[in-house]
Amino acid sequence: MRAVVLGGSGFVGSHLVDQMLERGDEVVVVDSYLTGRRQNLAHNHGRRGFRLVEHDICQPIPVVGQFDAVFNLASPASPIDYARFPLETLDVGSLGTRNALILARAAGATFVQASTSEVYGDPLVHPQREDYFGNVNTVGPRSCYDEAKRFSEALITTYARVYGTRVQLARIFNTYGPRMRVDDGRVVPAFVTQALRGEDFTVFGDGSQTRSFCYVDDLVRGLLLLCEKGDGMPVNLGNPVELTLREFAEAVRQVVGKGGAVRSVRPLPENDPRQRRPVIERALTLLGWAPRVPLEEGLLPTVAYFRAELGL
Ligand code: UDP
Repeated sequence: MRAVVLGGSGFVGSHLVDQMLERGDEVVVVDSYLTGRRQNLAHNHGRRGFRLVEHDICQPIPVVGQFDAVFNLASPASPIDYARFPLETLDVGSLGTRNALILARAAGATFVQASTSEVYGDPLVHPQREDYFGNVNTVGPRSCYDEAKRFSEALITTYARVYGTRVQLARIFNTYGPRMRVDDGRVVPAFVTQALRGEDFTVFGDGSQTRSFCYVDDLVRGLLLLCEKGDGMPVNLGNPVELTLREFAEAVRQVVGKGGAVRSVRPLPENDPRQRRPVIERALTLLGWAPRVPLEEGLLPTVAYFRAELGL
């Protein structure tokens, strides 16, 4: 297929681009490099079917032509990134998504949105199904991201109703793998680099909060299936194996082979979800998708990547 990947130089975007090029697709990447990195796609320069446009999608997108798909992965995504760029995050979720939809409509493309489990906020219903409306503090520190993504979902589904554009919404749960930034503040880079350096694991709160970690290759396979087979309504993409943060630290210690004590270093950040696990029934029945890569396996290339990044 021919596709445009907005935010294609980021963590998830760059893996999507690689999988598409690998299977022979043509890909145009658009990225502003606000949080994406040139080095994530450097290996594709000059490769057939690959083109890169440096551009902020909050401005009209200068890509013309017919495409089969527009994937919108453009947004800061880690809590410290969106805290650092709160207005940019709101803009890309609103103005940026609008421009992305205009591009998809003009190109006759299917629009695929990287939405998020953050639309469920600090969920009062557990595990989370797509029909749960969520529990988000509209004025809290995470609202710039959560509400931007919620607004995006409203905009995209409305746009589809008004113009008949084909759209798909992936609600992405915690994802990990090579190319996460060492300093992005998320728990996977934090714990893996701490273990590699033999430092203590810095747990926020008492470490009883839970997350469910999906390896990036599984997620990307899900995004491609969703583009092809989705029904236009949100689909959770995540790994339903749920761990407390303390259990996750132990899993990292096992794979790295070292690591310090699990230490609570600060209270749980405001509105930090206390539990999170996807129900993936819809992904399974609609797309035939379920994660294949267990945590111990996915952590191996992840740890190798961070080891190289740290020069260890
Ligand atoms: N967290 C932690 N130590 C860290 C970084 C994060 O205990 O050094 C916690 C964080 O408070 C949250 C969980 O790990 O409860 C996952 O955080 P992350 O930023 O990776 O993603 P989130 O799921 O919150 O978007």
